Amino acid sequence: MLILIDLDGTIINTVHPTWKPYKDGQENCSIEPYLAQVPIFPGAREFIASRKAKGDSIIVVSDSHFRYVNPICDMLGVERVSLADKPNTQKLKEFLDNHPNYNQEVNNGNCFVIGDTKLDIELGRHIGAMTIWFLPYIITDDIKDERDGIGDEMLSKKMGPTFAAKTFQEMESIIDSHLSNLYPIEAAFADSSSVRAIRLNDNRYSDGSCACIRCLARQEQGSCDKYARADKYYMMSNPQRTQAFLQSLASGISSYLNQPSLNQGWDYFTYLTDKKTTTPPNKMKEIFDLVATPIQKVRLLKWSDNVQGSLRDQNQYKDRQTFLQNYLSVECPMETTVDMFGQEQQVPIPLAGKNVIVLDDQLTTGATAWHVIRKLKEKGARNVLFIAMFQMVLPVNNDVMCPICGQPMLIKMRRSDGHRFYSCTPPQYGGNGCGYIQDIPNQ
Ligand SMILES: [Zn+2]
Repeated sequence: MLILIDLDGTIINTVHPTWKPYKDGQENCSIEPYLAQVPIFPGAREFIASRKAKGDSIIVVSDSHFRYVNPICDMLGVERVSLADKPNTQKLKEFLDNHPNYNQEVNNGNCFVIGDTKLDIELGRHIGAMTIWFLPYIITDDIKDERDGIGDEMLSKKMGPTFAAKTFQEMESIIDSHLSNLYPIEAAFADSSSVRAIRLNDNRYSDGSCACIRCLARQEQGSCDKYARADKYYMMSNPQRTQAFLQSLASGISSYLNQPSLNQGWDYFTYLTDKKTTTPPNKMKEIFDLVATPIQKVRLLKWSDNVQGSLRDQNQYKDRQTFLQNYLSVECPMETTVDMFGQEQQVPIPLAGKNVIVLDDQLTTGATAWHVIRKLKEKGARNVLFIAMFQMVLPVNNDVMCPICGQPMLIKMRRSDGHRFYSCTPPQYGGNGCGYIQDIPNQ
C-alpha cells in the first residue's frame, strides 16, 4: 500500500500561525534548532512504524518549504514531496513518475491520500486514490484560514473523503480493512457491510433533544475513488432498475440502522414520499419497504397533490425553502383506538415526544432535511435522524485536455446507465468547450 500523507495538522500539530515563517522556509527561521520541540501528534510515530512493518510505503506530501519539510521528514524517517501546491497534481506526479513502483500502486488502486484539509482530499480525488480526512486537533478561531480551507470542517466533508478518522488507531483499522469501513451503501455495492455514515450535522436543542443529518454514500462529480457511486444514484431513477439493485441499496440502509448504538429508542421510521409525477412510480417506497428494521414504519410526509415541478429546479436555497413550505407537510396516518365508552375512533398516531428516523434519496443543500426536521419538531417530535442515501459532493476537475481545442475536459456521467465519459462541455451545457466527447471504458 502507498500512503501519501500530509504533514502540518496531520502528523505534527503545527496548524497555529506562529509556525508559518518556518513552514514558508524563511532564511532567518531555520527549523533545525527547534526540531526536538516539533509537536508530533500522539500515535503518529507508532503509525509510521506500524505501516512500515506491514510493508507500506509512506510519503509526506506537504505544501511547506523543503527547508522545513526535509529535516522533519529525516527525523521521522519518511520520504517527502515538499512545495506540493495541493490540490494540483504536477509536483506529485513528477515524483511518482520517478518512482515507477509507487506509480504502479496508484494505478492499481492501492493508495491512500491522508490529510486534514479539503486540499488533501481534492488531491486524492484527482489521482483516483482513496482518501482519509484526518482531523486530530480541535479547530479554534485563531487557526482558521479560509484561503486554504483549514478550519472549515464542512468544506472538507463536502469534498467527499472516502473515510474520516480522528485518531491514528482509527486510521490503522481503515487501512487494514477498508471495505468494512466504507459508507454503508458504498460497502453494500462492494460486497461488504459497514455502519460508518457521513456525519454532516448534529444540532442540539435547549430541551436536550437533537437533530442529526447522515449520508450513506457519496455521489461524485468528476474524478474520485471507485467507491463513490453517482452511477447508483442515477440508477435509482431508472425504470429498468432491478430487484437486486434495490436489495443492495436497502441492505446498506439496514446495516446502518441495525448497528447496536442505533437500534433502540427510535419510534418511527419514515421516508420522503414519492410525488405523483415521480419516475419510476414508488421510487422511494420500494426501497423503504425493503429496509429491514424493527422500528415501526409509517408514512409521515406528504407532498401536496398540486405540487408543480421539482425541488431540483430551484437553484437558490431560499427558493427551495419556499417550494418545500408550499408543498411538503407532515401528516400523521390515522389509527383506530377505543374510547372510554367502548367506541372505536380514528385518531392520528401521536408524534409528541417520539423519535423519528427519516430516509431521503439525496442531500445537496440540506434544505429538505432542515425543513422536514423543523416540521416534525413543530408537531412535537423529539429526536430526529435524517438519513440521505447519497451525498452530492463538490465537483473536482481533472487534467485531461481536449484533443480538439485544448481546454480541460470534465468527467461526466450518462444518467441512463451511469456510464462515464470526458466532455469538452459546450456552452449549451454550461461550459465553454467545443462539445468533443471521449468515452471512458468501464473498469
Ligand atoms: Zn474541445
